[in-house]
Amino acid sequence: MAAGVPAKASTMRCVICKHGETRPGQATLAFTRDGTTLVVKGVPADICADCGEEYVDEATTARLLRTAEEAARAGVKVDVRDYVSA
Ligand SMILES: [Zn+2]
Repeated sequence: MAAGVPAKASTMRCVICKHGETRPGQATLAFTRDGTTLVVKGVPADICADCGEEYVDEATTARLLRTAEEAARAGVKVDVRDYVSA
């Protein structure tokens, strides 16, 4: 059995309302970079069942920010995209 690598928690206590628990779901995120607004739909996220706060993991956020930077370099002003998993 693998040891020392904790399984990704499926639920956690919300740090915003300190009451709800998160559940896997999908979020719509908007990034603004140098005059470019990129909206990404269907991003995997843990969403608080109580207040609706969305928790997106750091790797996903970093990748989407890079996508927004690429869109900015390409001269895109506003774009809405569906999330594409790595
Ligand atoms: Zn909450």
